[in-house]
Amino acid sequence: MNIHEYQAKALLKEFGAPVASGVPIFSADEAEAAAKKLPGPLYVVKSQIHAGGRGKGKFTELGPDAKGGVRLAKSIEEVVANSAEMLGNTLVTKQTGAAGKVVNRLYIEDGADIDRELYLSILVDRTVGQVAFVVSTEGGMDIEEVAASTPEKILTLPIDPDAGVTDAAATRLCDALELTGDAREDGMKLFPILYKAFTEKDMSLLEINPLIVMTDGHVRVLDAKVSFDGNALFRHDDIMALRDKSEEDEKEIEASKFDLAYVALDGDIGCMVNGAGLAMATMDIIKLYGAEPANFLDVGGGASKEKVTAAFKIITADPNVKGILVNIFGGIMRCDVIAEGVVSAVKEVGLKVPLVVRLEGTNVELGKKIINESGLNVIAADDLDDAAQKIVKAVKG
Ligand code: ADP
Ligand code: MG
Repeated sequence: MNIHEYQAKALLKEFGAPVASGVPIFSADEAEAAAKKLPGPLYVVKSQIHAGGRGKGKFTELGPDAKGGVRLAKSIEEVVANSAEMLGNTLVTKQTGAAGKVVNRLYIEDGADIDRELYLSILVDRTVGQVAFVVSTEGGMDIEEVAASTPEKILTLPIDPDAGVTDAAATRLCDALELTGDAREDGMKLFPILYKAFTEKDMSLLEINPLIVMTDGHVRVLDAKVSFDGNALFRHDDIMALRDKSEEDEKEIEASKFDLAYVALDGDIGCMVNGAGLAMATMDIIKLYGAEPANFLDVGGGASKEKVTAAFKIITADPNVKGILVNIFGGIMRCDVIAEGVVSAVKEVGLKVPLVVRLEGTNVELGKKIINESGLNVIAADDLDDAAQKIVKAVKG
């Protein structure tokens, strides 16, 4: 689960991290009062959407000359004018996709005098099985670009879970970020704070881009992007309360109600598969034959008929889906249950696109019988390879 920048900053502030003062607003009427709570004379009006790259983003509806999603304002009047222009409009950034995201919240923040922009993130480094810091002096820009062009400017530092962020580790991070004087003292304090926030709140990603050194020599968290491990949310009611469903994919919200592992993607072949490994392999083979999957969907091991029905409905409700591939290897999951789910979903919502079904494993004969006797227009497939070729051919013609 992701949260907004202003929520992430409030959370980091509770742990003692240096963040600027700021006020979130939901309508332009609130802009003036919000700005009056800040010291001034420099303000920043920041779009709150669950995507990065806002500063360089475009409000396409406002024409080619409109300013981006993060704007400096030199007076309260400018804060108000910018707020009125930005709220309710669609911001398109590198991370939103072409459709963009409607800006329903703004964060009015105290403007900082920036000397240097740095990059810092904390993530779960699966290659070493530890939480790791990733830092670079090249902040404020795309870290992927830095990684591609000047990888030597990035330090990845795994943290020993027993020891936490030791002085030695914090010193290495300070060195990599070239922090000196007050900024170095701030850094030595900040890194353990961020690590504590990350582990205590079960984050999966904490990205601060940029972390800044101000002209007064002190360090400040200027942007904050936080994702939480969905499997640990049950123990964080405070985090759950920050969920903004308007930022999430409707299909993913529906899937989460049925406990389905579902991720919406950009392609046109809807997939219903059991087991994450088989789901990945199915997506790979669809790509191999020249098409793109519309989703990742693992219905899980012991899915009920209701769950399968819900899953099938989510796939068919996606207007991008031009064909569906059901690929089930029945182990714990029985093929007849899948078949019943598919048939009942099709009876409810109809079938407007080609459907290829490949069943194998427990109760496969019964599963095939249910499909065959249902009168549905199903293309049967013998194995994964055959199934992928058939659905790609059905969709591409
Ligand atoms: P995004 O990464 O989505 O573009 P950021 O929060 O990183 O959004 O803001 C983009 C840039 O705007 C920053 O790199 C920084 O240069 C500037 N900026 C953001 N917040 C402030 C602030 N409070 N004071 C001064 N400049 C800011
Ligand atoms: Mg940023």
